[in-house]
Amino acid sequence: MGETPSNILPDYSRRLKKLRQELKKQDIDVFLITVPANRFYLSGFDGSAGFLMVGKYKAILVTDFRYLEQAEEQSSHLEIHPMKNHISETVAFLVNREGWSSLGFEGEHISYYNYKWLAERVKVPLIPLRQKVEKIRAIKESGELHLIKQAAGLTDKAFKIICSQVRPGIKEKDLAAELEHILKKSGGEKPAFQYIVASGPRSARPHGVASDKKLAEGEFVIFDFGVTVGGYASDMSRTLFVGKPAEKHLEIWKVVMEAQQAAINILRAGVNGAKVDAAARKVMGKKGWSENFGHGLGHGVGIEPHEAPLLSPKGKEKLVSGMVVTVEPGIYFKGWGGVRIEDMVLVTDDGCEVLTHSAREMIPF
Ligand code: ZN
Ligand code: ZN
Repeated sequence: MGETPSNILPDYSRRLKKLRQELKKQDIDVFLITVPANRFYLSGFDGSAGFLMVGKYKAILVTDFRYLEQAEEQSSHLEIHPMKNHISETVAFLVNREGWSSLGFEGEHISYYNYKWLAERVKVPLIPLRQKVEKIRAIKESGELHLIKQAAGLTDKAFKIICSQVRPGIKEKDLAAELEHILKKSGGEKPAFQYIVASGPRSARPHGVASDKKLAEGEFVIFDFGVTVGGYASDMSRTLFVGKPAEKHLEIWKVVMEAQQAAINILRAGVNGAKVDAAARKVMGKKGWSENFGHGLGHGVGIEPHEAPLLSPKGKEKLVSGMVVTVEPGIYFKGWGGVRIEDMVLVTDDGCEVLTHSAREMIPF
């Protein structure tokens, strides 16, 4: 193995600096980070327990005895503090020791009871914050893009193999298990989420996880899956057809393809997520199928398979170069079937780069 080029290593000091700029604006002395993906982003520590405290000059990673050695190895840029008591007691102890005078916390993540215990023990103002680290995470560094592209490449390869196994009589669950197996063996870490393999009427459920149903002639089958590499996810969907598609099947598939292309055509830095979503929705609308596209067009992908930004009617913020988003229009007819095509794309200043390379064609089997 050669040495990792330094430009693809995680730039923790840049990330912490960006976060501190945000905290300064709100005059917050220290930020308690409990969301695991945010903790991983700022520390590199991926153990299942622990939290991070980012102060103006110092950041402290707290974890328990089981993970101390791992934390020292993964987060050599941070002070590591052993957790011996409840989170609220450890936080109170450190706030006191460091002389911090206000504590920000992730308001969307701390539970009611943890908040209550914190408020009882920490004697400085507690300030709920939203999406502070998520906003920084949305714009990827070159090292992150490197990992995301690797993950996307693995899903492309796995899809090619699974296509050869699609046939009437095979169970959705068996195809999902096979996909997991292929991805693990080819260097993936873990499934990015629970795989969707949804055939026939089940393909009308946008989140129809693989079931015991067997594929049959004359059915759509939607695959929606992804894998992580170095902690970064991929996410792609394709719709196949078992047997020979009828006119209606082909028509629906074509409209989904056109909707996706319309969105990709206008996707670039400076455009907001709602506008991109509207471009796809307009194509559906011409067929009178707006109501059949019941979810947002896409979402950011990174440490979490679903993260900021949103490509949906709610996506008011402008896209920025370096964001990675999915473009996944779908049309669903309840009790009958549906089609979704999902690609990952990298937002650039003059357009976007599609990171998913699998053919979008609804190859009949
Ligand atoms: Zn997906
Ligand atoms: Zn997705």
